[in-house]
Amino acid sequence: MERQRLNFQLPDFTRVCWVSDSAKSIWEPRLAQITNAWLEIEWRSVIAGVRECCLNSLTPEDLVAKAGKFAEYGLCALPLEMCGISQYSYSSTSLPIEPGKPFVFRTVIGKPESVWQFKQAFNTGDNLLIGKLLGFPDCCREFFQQVWVEQSCVDTTWQMACNTLKSTEIAEDTRLIKVKGSPYNNILWRWMGIRLVPHLPCSFDCQHTKSFGEKLMQVGLSAGYEQEMDWLLQILNWSVEWSALHGIAEIKTSILKVSTMTDATPYKYTVQRQGKTETDEGARGLNFPYQVPRKPLFTSSSAFQRGIENPITQLAEHPDKYAASNGFSSRLVMDKAHQPIVEQAIAFLPNTSSNVIDLGCGNGALLKKIYEKNFNIIPYGIEQEASRLENVSLLLPQFVDNFWVGDIFTSEELWAQNRRYSLALLMPGRLLEVSPETAANLKKRLQQQCDRLLIYAYGDWLTRYGSLTGLAKEAGLELLNPKNIRASCGFAF
Ligand SMILES: [Zn+2]
Repeated sequence: MERQRLNFQLPDFTRVCWVSDSAKSIWEPRLAQITNAWLEIEWRSVIAGVRECCLNSLTPEDLVAKAGKFAEYGLCALPLEMCGISQYSYSSTSLPIEPGKPFVFRTVIGKPESVWQFKQAFNTGDNLLIGKLLGFPDCCREFFQQVWVEQSCVDTTWQMACNTLKSTEIAEDTRLIKVKGSPYNNILWRWMGIRLVPHLPCSFDCQHTKSFGEKLMQVGLSAGYEQEMDWLLQILNWSVEWSALHGIAEIKTSILKVSTMTDATPYKYTVQRQGKTETDEGARGLNFPYQVPRKPLFTSSSAFQRGIENPITQLAEHPDKYAASNGFSSRLVMDKAHQPIVEQAIAFLPNTSSNVIDLGCGNGALLKKIYEKNFNIIPYGIEQEASRLENVSLLLPQFVDNFWVGDIFTSEELWAQNRRYSLALLMPGRLLEVSPETAANLKKRLQQQCDRLLIYAYGDWLTRYGSLTGLAKEAGLELLNPKNIRASCGFAF
């Protein structure tokens, strides 16, 4: 079956359009975390013996920062070429470097002898050897040689789908292919940097690709990326549709749509990959790949009405569950721990409209207590675990848009539009869980955009460092008033 192709190619581009703000606020930071994890997995897979070499695109700063780490493991990093930077981590062609603009080194990483072998293969354009050194399965290397090199395609999706079916299942005029397969083989998210194998598989059910992907997943898990690997598998299990017409490919998923360059064809070609699970933030609709709308809530039911009218009463029915989503054993323990924080915050906050941010806000219970004592404040919160944020819509329904799922160290939304906060709340132990540079970045941001920082800690964090003063010191902060040795909270600036 021969697909008709047109004799032109658009310049490389990738555009992303989210289905909703809520999908974006939840999934964009997760995609960034997964992409980061993937960069680590690429080179760690070499140490784990999964393959000889890997390719990373590194900024000059990255290269300097990471080369020492590679050397520590007996690996060397050899820059092969300089490329322009695309906004997303995947582009079909390497972008030309522009004078004065930022660039990356395409760098091969591996044991010195493998890197030398790779360099020679690279110089002579020996794609089969390059693929072998990168650990790509034989069948996929042949597929790449055929489709990418010989047919000079820039997108292998259609041929990959054709390969997944038996040849008798494809008619001369087939323009829609439906496939299933393991999530490891699903590379339809690659334009967003979301993938579980570094190569272009020969089919959606290539078994060699699957087992390669499983090994890389293991590398990710051993490197401590459980959360990222969990999200990654979720995403790759969702339904997704790729279609191509006139050189533009559209990849539709339940949370976003990607437009990018592909091979130019006069007709529309479509590949649908049927998934399993879906997400709450996903768009709903009757067409593929969207989820069928769920049954509406029984809004007339008395239980639902009660919840709307009096959210606190409803929460009081499950006080311990409510406290647990904030990390406490019971509501009583939580209220007691919150009390001094609320008192200090209220003593400081002005009686005019002012923003307060809780970095690691749980279900927003602490912010609600502060708000109830000063209705001028506008609460903001960020929380890493989505499940903890679930009750915010009941506790602070008028402010739900000010709460994000995300990482306090990487979230940009937190600091968007140079928003100023009168007060920021932080458990300083968080600063000890990341690298000193990451911690320093957050501290800098806090100093730039917040008037005051109120730090607090409970239980184990206090005993481990003797006192809040001890913990603060370890985290590179100093309490303004360190006199009370038993204090569980205090201002750091
Ligand atoms: Zn294969």
